[in-house]
Amino acid sequence: MKRLEFLKKSLSWGIYRKKAWMISAFSVFREPENEWKKSPYPGRIVSQPWGYDFVNEKGELEKIEDSKAGVPIFAMNEVIDIDPTWIINLKEPVQTYIGSLFANQIMLVENFGSKIPYIPSGMTIKKIEDFVINNKSDKEIDTEKITLKEYLNMAKSVEYLKTLSNLSVYSVTKKNITPPPGLKEFKAKLLEEYQGQLEDPVKLAEFEKKLLDFAQLYIQDDPTWGKLVSGKIFKNGYRKMFLSSGAEGGLKGDMVPITESLVEGVPLEPKKFAATVNGARSGSYYRGKDTVKGGVSAKIAIRALSSFSVKEGDCGTLMGLPRLYTKHTIGNLVGRQLAGVSDGKVIENINEAGNYLGKIVKVRSTMYCQYPGQTYCETCAGKRLSRFKDGLSIPATDMTSAILAASMAAMHKNTTTTVKLDLTTTLS
Ligand SMILES: [Zn+2]
Repeated sequence: MKRLEFLKKSLSWGIYRKKAWMISAFSVFREPENEWKKSPYPGRIVSQPWGYDFVNEKGELEKIEDSKAGVPIFAMNEVIDIDPTWIINLKEPVQTYIGSLFANQIMLVENFGSKIPYIPSGMTIKKIEDFVINNKSDKEIDTEKITLKEYLNMAKSVEYLKTLSNLSVYSVTKKNITPPPGLKEFKAKLLEEYQGQLEDPVKLAEFEKKLLDFAQLYIQDDPTWGKLVSGKIFKNGYRKMFLSSGAEGGLKGDMVPITESLVEGVPLEPKKFAATVNGARSGSYYRGKDTVKGGVSAKIAIRALSSFSVKEGDCGTLMGLPRLYTKHTIGNLVGRQLAGVSDGKVIENINEAGNYLGKIVKVRSTMYCQYPGQTYCETCAGKRLSRFKDGLSIPATDMTSAILAASMAAMHKNTTTTVKLDLTTTLS
């Protein structure tokens, strides 16, 4: 039997549900002789000195004629032409990848039958979920539209596919583990251009941006670009490895620019060497210390607010908190009452809130509430907080998770870049 014929048979046997089979189909493996006899299911692949056999429906070994030794039988990115006899959600012949064929079978056919059309390449959860949202059924059983149960089942397939990622995800390519050609000359020219200026963080950011742009031209056609290599992996990991180590803090809080990359080695010039070592030490220390921040701030928030509560009514204050509402924060205005007059308008929905976009609005706030002791009035608290009348610690701990996320991000995504700061937005 030929390779592709075997592939088609394998789909019909449903053996892709066995992880061991998937591994044997997409990697080079070796087993003791006759090991296959312990579990001779149809489609089981048996490695041979010349290539591969498989166990046929009679339980006998049959040769996969065009298979070769030393390479996997199939590759996820192998292009094949298939027609509707291959898979039930395909309506006309199409060119696709073997990986996509399995992804369609496991994610779509297993859960939805032929309800979701074949996706030949670039399958994403978003594509599937968009289709599900537009074709959802309220019934328990539906022959055309998608039921909740089918959608929930898909989660199992997602989990299964995740376990196969080591067979299909590129993690190492030539480009992502090598510096761009011509870097040495390019960097030497840049270093000359920026000589004596790199202690200024703005200049250092500019210098590193130019190196990153140069490297991006080299790496952007790599299959890992935008997937494994993007964001902090590129701007931090790749940069430190090949381009420039960047700003390291001295112990006194000064910033020392280390323009040498790890490939060039740790610089032995005393000031740079000390800064590199101090950077490693403080990184190790703050990793622990800053992780604590989230937990500590959650505890403080719980203690601070556990005795506070929201009571019905309106304290009648005319005071309020002026805030600028941007497209990112405009949703927070819903349910708040405008301050300054005794019976201020309550913003009922997002459309009404939209009228205040980009404007400074004075809203009622717990900061100015006149209710006695440890109580706030519903009007100052706003509708959202008032849902937690005796449980204000709940939304407060929610806020502290943002503190944790921010301090983790500061640790892991820390690069020197320049951004424009708008004081009104930032301080509002
Ligand atoms: Zn009040």
